[in-house]
Amino acid sequence: MGSYALTGGATGIGAELKRQLTETGHEVISVDIREGDIVADLATAEGRRAAVDGIRARAPDGLDGYIPCAGLPPVAKPLSLIARVNYFAAVETVAGLRDLLALKRGTALLVASNSAPMIGNDDLFVQACLAGDEERACADIESRDGHSAYAGSKRALVLWMRRNVADYAAGGVRLNAVAPGITLTPLTEQVMADAEFGDAMKQFAAMVPWGGTARPAEIANVMRFMLGPEAAFVCGSVFFVDGGSDAMLRSDDF
Ligand code: NAD
Repeated sequence: MGSYALTGGATGIGAELKRQLTETGHEVISVDIREGDIVADLATAEGRRAAVDGIRARAPDGLDGYIPCAGLPPVAKPLSLIARVNYFAAVETVAGLRDLLALKRGTALLVASNSAPMIGNDDLFVQACLAGDEERACADIESRDGHSAYAGSKRALVLWMRRNVADYAAGGVRLNAVAPGITLTPLTEQVMADAEFGDAMKQFAAMVPWGGTARPAEIANVMRFMLGPEAAFVCGSVFFVDGGSDAMLRSDDF
């Protein structure tokens, strides 16, 4: 069966995806700051190196898929941590595992968000991320707000994916992204309990066309499909799994 690695496997969507992949007979290497095969803080250069080296040591014959799922919510502080974990750790580890993925014509599945389209491509923080300038991005975002940090990190992730899709495909690696809507995980619990963001998130959930919030399994089901052989021609896609909220907010923007 397949060989997969993911980050953020301790809780939420990553834990559910790990469970599903393992249950269907695949090997999964899990990286997380809390627990896993590799315990590493992806906000740091050492942690990212430990993650990549640890995965390489455990999967020398290659990877069928890599999912940088670890992420921090808009309420995380300092805001620079959101930039470091959600964007820079994700793209750096994908790049560090590219050759392992190529060995198996594998796929990297980035985890964006339905909030990614809520911020512009020309946003200075998004541009600093895309320029690969981690310190500038971190300095810029400290004077902003949690929504800009979170949505901006996810916007940059999608743009990075789309800009790199042809190059990675030429080297035998499919890049894609999933864009979940509000999903009931520890991350969402933190946001719901927050004095600044909680009410706005509850109001947003009430507006979702297909109703409320997702369960982690409803996101992981789609991710598992995108990672598997039935999605072999899915390349460069951003798959919104958000109960219709993006289509509702941007009906004509396609
Ligand atoms: P979660 O908090 O349950 O899981 C996140 C995981 O990342 C945790 O296991 C945590 O320990 C790990 N992590 C955090 N910081 C880390 C670090 N510095 N180094 C290593 N690991 C670290 O959250 P979730 O909701 O399952 O989120 C998973 C992904 O889905 C994230 O990228 C998130 O942005 C994205 N997402 C979530 C939602 C949602 O509503 N829950 C919506 C859209 C996108």
